[in-house]
Amino acid sequence: MKVLVGVKRVIDAYVKVRVRGDGTGVETDNVKMSMNPFCEIAVEEAVRLKEAGTASELVAVSCGPAANQETLRTALAVGCDRAILVQHDGALEPLAVAKILAALVERESPRLVLLGKQAVDNDFNSTTQILAARLGWSQGCFTSSLEVEGDKLLVAREVDAGIEKRSLSLPSVVSADLRLNTPRYASLPNIMKARSKPLETITATDLLSESDLAPRLEILKVEEPPARKAGVKVQSVEELVAKLKDEAEVL
Ligand code: AMP
Repeated sequence: MKVLVGVKRVIDAYVKVRVRGDGTGVETDNVKMSMNPFCEIAVEEAVRLKEAGTASELVAVSCGPAANQETLRTALAVGCDRAILVQHDGALEPLAVAKILAALVERESPRLVLLGKQAVDNDFNSTTQILAARLGWSQGCFTSSLEVEGDKLLVAREVDAGIEKRSLSLPSVVSADLRLNTPRYASLPNIMKARSKPLETITATDLLSESDLAPRLEILKVEEPPARKAGVKVQSVEELVAKLKDEAEVL
């Protein structure tokens, strides 16, 4: 079974994000970028499927600027077999990414597409759902466990009422939640080996028209959340209750 894994390059999760002075977005110049944490989990799951003999080939895909090659090399170092950069320098919304991935599915014929449940830069949480709908494939969003049984995929999803288990018919689009696995670190020898694994670059316009790729949402303004007020230490339960009553007025 061939598996396609979508990996997005985002601001590193441990970096404090700063809003640009003109309020048009967040600062990305000279900021450390890394693979989206949920995509790391998707890659790890794909590698485990290969190690278990269930997956035959893992293809990592990233859509965005040339710098995304770095993210793809990380995916190769962790265990993907080859990578495809779909180069595009402008903003890409989930609809455009889903269209690109759908075009690659047609070219590559995977049985499974693994994505992160959301990109932590925009929190859209939409690409999986749009892609599954466009392909007419089954979808398993926010999966916390995944097993392949013949032509079926058994997934578990954490929902409000507990753990929901579903059986999906392959081919399928699945998104990885936090508890699916703990991603491994790439070892130095594997980072070196990844340099010689195949990384193909195509431009997004090789697959789609400019109008398919064009953003449809307009960002009006990005601003910092209001600063939190400093807390106070209370000396007793009575003082806490009095403050909740008289100052916060929540009792
Ligand atoms: P989103 O719907 O934007 O929150 O993203 C959900 C998932 O879709 C991500 O975790 C990735 O697996 C995939 N994805 C989104 N954008 C890209 C991109 N530019 N390149 C590759 N995969 C992406």
